[in-house]
Amino acid sequence: MTTKTFDILLRRGEVIDPSQALHGPRDVGIRDGKIAEIAEQLDAADAAHVVDAKGQYVVPGLIDLHVHVYRDHCPLSLDADELSPAGGVTTMLDAGSAGPLNFGGFRRDIVERQQTQVLALVNLSCIGLIAYQFGELMDPRYADRAGVVRTIAEHPDVAVGVKIRASRHIIGEGEQGWSHFKSAVAAARESGTWLMVHIGESPMSIPEMLEHLEEGDCITHCFKGGSQTILDAEGRLHPSVREAAARGVIFDVGHGAGSFQWEMVQSALDQGFEPTTISTDLHALNLHGPVYDMPTTMSKFLALGVPLKRVIEMATSRPARVLGRDAELGTLRVGSVADVAVLEKTSGKFLLTDSYGTRRVGETLLVAAATIRRGVLVAGGGGTRMRHLAE
Ligand SMILES: [Zn+2]
Repeated sequence: MTTKTFDILLRRGEVIDPSQALHGPRDVGIRDGKIAEIAEQLDAADAAHVVDAKGQYVVPGLIDLHVHVYRDHCPLSLDADELSPAGGVTTMLDAGSAGPLNFGGFRRDIVERQQTQVLALVNLSCIGLIAYQFGELMDPRYADRAGVVRTIAEHPDVAVGVKIRASRHIIGEGEQGWSHFKSAVAAARESGTWLMVHIGESPMSIPEMLEHLEEGDCITHCFKGGSQTILDAEGRLHPSVREAAARGVIFDVGHGAGSFQWEMVQSALDQGFEPTTISTDLHALNLHGPVYDMPTTMSKFLALGVPLKRVIEMATSRPARVLGRDAELGTLRVGSVADVAVLEKTSGKFLLTDSYGTRRVGETLLVAAATIRRGVLVAGGGGTRMRHLAE
């Protein structure tokens, strides 16, 4: 409790908030877990705690639409509260680590115990990803459409949608693969939510899958390489991809250990196609490279020439809209939840590596300097883990 006007005052930062087309030097005052006031100058004497953000970007807390944080229950999962300050991420979407049989445990042990806001997609496979290496839908008995619908109904505050990993070594070939894919679509429709499809080396083509997706459904790993990509054999963007994006299908990055290829992103951007949202797919095998964190993933888009404002938008207001929570999240509007990321812009020459081991040199690296979660300043910050090249 404080008698001051603000619990925290972020001073002299460069505020970038695409949700309200705000970009400029502003002070941000926080009180009782909400954004209390934004102005060109607020009185530091009115604040219990002042954070000097001079020379740094003050943006809405980042939203990572693809992580795995079912720690100690599901292999490769990470700790949400450790990832949060390292990346300036205040809301995470766990992408199907749990399924109908273990979602209650996920809620009790992760969602309710972590300070970071964790939302989740429910895996079509009843066991989620606890035995992911065997392919969670290779045995068709594991597909649990009714269970997914029931789980979402039981946990409407946490379970926001449905997840399927549509690779042939996961869902099976031919009819079996199609059957699982259609079950996942049906579960999304019956639960009144949306479907995230992990595209891999799938038994069906990307255009074939897109025919079944509606506004609000999502393709993650959209810049994967391999034999099935969003480009055709001549390297042109599939017309169906452009059409799907136009009708509101979400194209999410989901960088991961195998799903971000420089040439793919470059080619898509050159053809006027941008992802809807930037996400990491962080798990134990990509945390120490090539992904590291959200700001590093965002920096890769800066290196490709996407303007900073749009990169911030892809990590704040757009994912908030995908989650249906844009009134509260992904924004610094007065009265909204005080989730804030302070990002430091470091300049130099940084080795940025894609999921296929190809390196490019970026000249700007964003690093999480401070994170405020629901009005509370979180200890720690991101490190500059990219190799810095001497001139
Ligand atoms: Zn994933």
